[in-house]
Amino acid sequence: MDKLEGLVAEIAAEMAAQTERGKVASYIPQLGKVDPKQFGIAVTLADGRIVCGGDADTRFSIQSISKVFTLTLALGKIGDALWRRVGREPSGNPFNSIVQLEYERGKPRNPFINAGALALADVILSGHRPREALGDILHFIRHVADDDSIAIDQGVARSEQETGFRNAALANYMRACDMLESPVDFVLGVYFHHCAIAMSCRQLAMAGRYLAFSGRQDGRTVLSPERARRINALMLMCGHYDGSGEFAFRVGIPGKSGVGGGILGVVPGRASVCVWSPGIDEQGNSRLGRLALERLTQGMGWSVFGPQG
Ligand code: GLU
Repeated sequence: MDKLEGLVAEIAAEMAAQTERGKVASYIPQLGKVDPKQFGIAVTLADGRIVCGGDADTRFSIQSISKVFTLTLALGKIGDALWRRVGREPSGNPFNSIVQLEYERGKPRNPFINAGALALADVILSGHRPREALGDILHFIRHVADDDSIAIDQGVARSEQETGFRNAALANYMRACDMLESPVDFVLGVYFHHCAIAMSCRQLAMAGRYLAFSGRQDGRTVLSPERARRINALMLMCGHYDGSGEFAFRVGIPGKSGVGGGILGVVPGRASVCVWSPGIDEQGNSRLGRLALERLTQGMGWSVFGPQG
């Protein structure tokens, strides 16, 4: 067993024994039913090796981790014109803040808060029907994960559609400011469905390889090295909402969380990592997920801010 395998096994055992696990996201009723006593971790390396621990093959709702993939697609579609639609500064506010959107006149602060992701969905929708836009998103994720079995959990999508009043408020406000092109219902439909995609840690760690390895995976280019760098920068600054500073401070790598309890982490040039534990903290980030990543980056000396002293 090498150092990484030993550490991953240790982290999985440690997380299984934790009693403080955070709370599952019950504001989306279907997510409220998930058993909080689960933990998974998967790490893919430059040589193609994948090291897993705990419930690494259990599928969960990827929620906002999907925004990394929709950002990649939206940038591919309209390039730098995207920055006229959405900013790239940390929000310092909750992920579904209405107040911030109002004082910034409908232009979301960054692509990873909910309003920003609605703008991305609108860009991907442009010229398409909702079914086609969703098909493009799913196709891209299956491609980068190299797994055609990845699908949308329709129960979660319905649950969010029935209760997503705050997201509807954000989308309607953006439409009132002329910041959305497609009908609000279409934009919300695409957004709720891509958040409801179900994947395992192993599948997400595979899907994140292009961000860890300068836009390339399996010998093919997924996007330019410059774009991969920029997406990583946004993940570092904005990937954990108003918990992004704390995540950078403790973990020290670009990461994107989802309220399903997953976190996709990128160690540039070295690894793509996914951890999952359904209990989240007040900022909407997986409690044990962050702890596990902190242990991993410390143990491996993987912080982008410098090695362990
Ligand atoms: N679908 C979730 C929402 O709109 C995403 C939030 C998250 O994962 O951070 O509330």
